[in-house]
Amino acid sequence: MANTYVVGFPRIGEQRELKRALEAYWAGKSSQEELKSVASDLRKRHLIYQKNAGIDLISVNDFSFYDNMIDAMVMLNATPEKYADLEGMDKYFAMARGDKDHKAMEMTKWFNTNYHYIVPELDENMDFKATIDKIKAEYAEAKELGITPKVNFIGLVTFVKLSKVVNGSENVIIEKLIPVYEDLIKQISALDENVTIQFDESYFVTNPTEIDLETLKKVYDRLTAVSDNIFVATYFEHSNEANEVLAKTNIEGMFLDFVAGAENSVKALVEAGKKVGIGIVNGRNVWVNDIKESVKFLEGIAEVADKDQILVGTSCSLLHVPFTLKYEEKMDEDIKSWLSYAVEKLNEVKIINKLFRGEELTAEEKADLVANEEAVATRKTSEKIHDTIVKDRVSNLTAKDSDRGMPFEERIKLQHENLKYPILPTTTIGSFPQTPELRKLRRDFKNGVISEEAYETEIKKMTDDLIKLQEDLDIDVLVHGEYERNDMVEYFGEQLSGVAFSQNGWVQSYGSRCVKPPLIFGDVSRPKAMTVKWSTYAQSKTNRPMKGMLTGPATMLNWSFVRDDQPRSVTGYQMSLAIRDEVNDLEAAGIKVIQVDEAALREGYPLRNDKKAEYEKWAIEGFKITTSGVRPETQIHTHMCYSEFSDIMDAIEAMDADVISIENARSDNSLLEIFKERGYKGEIGPGVYDIHSPRIPSTEELVEQIEELIKVLPVEKLWVNPDCGLKTRKWPETTPSLKNMVEATKIVRAKLNK
Ligand code: GLN
Ligand code: ZN
Repeated sequence: MANTYVVGFPRIGEQRELKRALEAYWAGKSSQEELKSVASDLRKRHLIYQKNAGIDLISVNDFSFYDNMIDAMVMLNATPEKYADLEGMDKYFAMARGDKDHKAMEMTKWFNTNYHYIVPELDENMDFKATIDKIKAEYAEAKELGITPKVNFIGLVTFVKLSKVVNGSENVIIEKLIPVYEDLIKQISALDENVTIQFDESYFVTNPTEIDLETLKKVYDRLTAVSDNIFVATYFEHSNEANEVLAKTNIEGMFLDFVAGAENSVKALVEAGKKVGIGIVNGRNVWVNDIKESVKFLEGIAEVADKDQILVGTSCSLLHVPFTLKYEEKMDEDIKSWLSYAVEKLNEVKIINKLFRGEELTAEEKADLVANEEAVATRKTSEKIHDTIVKDRVSNLTAKDSDRGMPFEERIKLQHENLKYPILPTTTIGSFPQTPELRKLRRDFKNGVISEEAYETEIKKMTDDLIKLQEDLDIDVLVHGEYERNDMVEYFGEQLSGVAFSQNGWVQSYGSRCVKPPLIFGDVSRPKAMTVKWSTYAQSKTNRPMKGMLTGPATMLNWSFVRDDQPRSVTGYQMSLAIRDEVNDLEAAGIKVIQVDEAALREGYPLRNDKKAEYEKWAIEGFKITTSGVRPETQIHTHMCYSEFSDIMDAIEAMDADVISIENARSDNSLLEIFKERGYKGEIGPGVYDIHSPRIPSTEELVEQIEELIKVLPVEKLWVNPDCGLKTRKWPETTPSLKNMVEATKIVRAKLNK
């Protein structure tokens, strides 16, 4: 009998082997056979890790060369017509990343994670049919290793809901896919006796409608008529509505997330005799599980369910955590003892399960349990984590700390006197092209190849050139260029107490791209100024206002692994105070404009509507704490990299920034509609051109764009800027684009007679 399961396992490899193999193949440096052989070796190694940890239900088809949604498109024959001239791997990678004749398909965030999937484009006239070659091969691989795996596949409803319907109706597509999924299940079931299939239906954690739930019922009534070995997995939140509906179908059971979706209720499922997978080992975070607590929790479930109805597993796929602690050689030993990556989490699942069922632990497991208890205990008391000064500062926060002390309408007048910028002021978002030479310079400094002095001399030279360039271009509010920063979160994380960095904590973001998020393990504070030196240096080189550049608290948290031993909001307030110290120091050093980027504010929103208010509360208040220590005449900017604002406009306005710059150019001005409808209190710079493409916008089109903005927003409130930082661009397109932007602004000003 199966007692333990893992929803899915990372595939990039413990040393990012798949990344290297993919990139070599894409660069034409290796063959398709070589790539396939690396992939096969990795899959086997990953299966063995799970087998050795004694996991009963191990997945196949969680592997992907790029993304599981593309795999599903291929297996369902749902690939867009525009790639029909290609086949095999060429077609696959053209959909994923484009080629010389084809644009890549759109990519978007997988729920609220930092993983990105390729968005299927569905047409009701597609000739859907199921082909399971990939699954067949991976199933055989597992069998050879003595594993009887479960087969993972994206659930029908979630597949359609996460797709774009480019032609026809969603309903027709769902109707047409039902027989195809039936056939898929038939083919999979023919691989072996009693093959378990896991369908992922996490769409249902995101506020499903009654109609969605009816569809769910209809679909699973049909599919479970083909096989009754079907588990439905939901994760990243609870989905009690779906649990109730699915309890009435013939599924075998569900895998539920009891970490992010602690409100999950097993009642309906248990009463209907279903199995319940209790996902209690966190697939989204890196901290050790409190094994004793988890066992207690399971015992609570066992009061309402039979023990053999209960499975123990991970809250979601382990794709979202790094691979193994094995390669963390340089990390502080205490911090390392508090961590658990994918491989270590397998062991946690196993031990929790054994304790829950009263099975004897081996000597090794006993030792692991002791280490676990110690780690849990030291996290409660360690001085590396707990800092009373920081805690006191948070408890002593009052309303005054998040209040600028003067309403915007009055502040902005003082700011105009203080800064004297013209109508339609021009600026940029902060970063400028990061050339290979610049990256090498930073690397050489970090590795001790060049001295601090030599490094700083170079950075200063580049900054000088950039300031001169901005003055020559006649930009009004300048930036220093962020040349000293590798990344907008890491740069600050490295200078804050309570934040650590891993050596090998890579997590797949999309395709071959991985990120290594900072680890916020303890109380956060700022031991000393982080940016004042560079900002004041830059300000000393110009008479125009120089913006100080910081990353905001919500973004710092949303792009890090955040400690789970206190509410996220408390860590958020600590982060806010740390950055507030920097804001205040910048002002004291003579910086008159300070930009606090909240690039990731939107993606931190909880998936369920009823949890949104709680997030907004600390995210907004955190921003205000960060920015309210300064005088009214100091101007606070913020920047956001997205344009879907309709539902969060009140929150954005409540942040009370003086100026906000936002993404707009990529979304056909859809953002402007919202402003037209409701207005906006502060000054605002909707990006006038898209920095995600190397294209140089012409002066004429920029004039037109600015005039479009003026139709919707009062000209006195408008700023002119690109829609994001320029670090991914190259110089040959950056300078002419900005030149055209300033020229266009001047043309519009002249037309306005200002
Ligand atoms: N100031 C940052 C930059 O210009 C903002 C980056 C971002 O929004 N992602 O690079
Ligand atoms: Zn941006």
